[in-house]
Amino acid sequence: MLTIKHLKIKGFETIVVGKDRSAGLHAIIAIHSIQRGPSLGGIRMWPYEHEKAALQDALRLATAMTKKAAISGLPIGGGKAVIIGDPEKEKTRILLLSMGELIESLQGKYIGAKDSGILPEDLDVVSDQTRHVTGTTGKRGGSGDPSLATAKGVLAGMQAACQVVYGRNNLQDRVVAIQGVGHVGWNLGNLLYKKGAKLFVADLNPERADRARRSWKATVAPLSKIHQMPVDVFAPCALGGVLNVKTIPQLRTKIVAGGANNQCLDEEQDPYHLMKRGILHVPDYVLNAGGLIHLVVREILHQRGVAPWINNIERTVQRVLSVALEQQLPPMVVADRMAREKLGAKHEIFP
Ligand code: NAD
Repeated sequence: MLTIKHLKIKGFETIVVGKDRSAGLHAIIAIHSIQRGPSLGGIRMWPYEHEKAALQDALRLATAMTKKAAISGLPIGGGKAVIIGDPEKEKTRILLLSMGELIESLQGKYIGAKDSGILPEDLDVVSDQTRHVTGTTGKRGGSGDPSLATAKGVLAGMQAACQVVYGRNNLQDRVVAIQGVGHVGWNLGNLLYKKGAKLFVADLNPERADRARRSWKATVAPLSKIHQMPVDVFAPCALGGVLNVKTIPQLRTKIVAGGANNQCLDEEQDPYHLMKRGILHVPDYVLNAGGLIHLVVREILHQRGVAPWINNIERTVQRVLSVALEQQLPPMVVADRMAREKLGAKHEIFP
């Protein structure tokens, strides 16, 4: 049986912890804001060591979703769900059904989608219990995996950053290190390879790294060294927290631009550490909005034309970077300010 506990945390709309022993479910849904509309965000399944780590991840991810939707001009709020467990070993049909029940209990205030560890086919199962889910397969009327749209947005923003730093946006012969070649990293690598970029890759899953080596003649770097490769762009496309006091001094790049959410471990200080090292960090939630845009435009606004919205990511990145350079501020600080302006009213999340 599913039991639901409500947590109260300042600045968050609603937080629920759902447990269902017989289904093996232990999950958290964090709704950060519904100021612009119902909250939408992916469901992440990851073997967190304990509930506190999962809660922290859910809070950071949900906050980023509010900013991402606001800066992209989408009529939705921010939320995120995490399931504690190894998706390779513990993802079962009854667990996903129980997750659907947990989402349904929020009566549409949270709309689920895919994140790391969850596939469109898993969302089909979730949708047996709730209609508040996007990114199911076409069989269920959904728009499927949004990762290609995410990668296209990352590529567009990466080009804008290359224009600023290297004076040309062409990616031919640019050297890029991709950390994590899962859904987003794989699509991004394909796009970069077609543009003539040279690639370094690393992935916890050696088969994925090897597939990248074979497909793109990529060089496989050790997991602990991928961020230290001498490259034009470092693209984090795995999990968050990869930019921190230990890794920032080790970076050998002038641009960090990737699809992973919450790349800075310390979201207040790390953007300044990157700036002091002369590294242009393109704010993750601006760059990786393509997937969210794809889901909202197709399934909530019921429009087909996603491309103009994705192209807009490049313009938003250009705006953020030009203000950041002009005012000598980290791009993340500028993006936060723009997102806050779009939210209109004062919002507690932002420092
Ligand atoms: P995914 O699980 O398909 O891929 C992540 C990959 O990273 C996996 O192959 C995993 O083995 C690898 N990985 C994990 N830890 C690693 C490490 N320490 N070093 C190297 N590789 C590692 O997930 P995804 O859907 O591609 O999402 C990746 C990131 O992008 C996540 O942070 C996600 O929140 C973010 N994101 C995804 C989308 C989307 O459309 N899928 C949209 C916006 C943001």
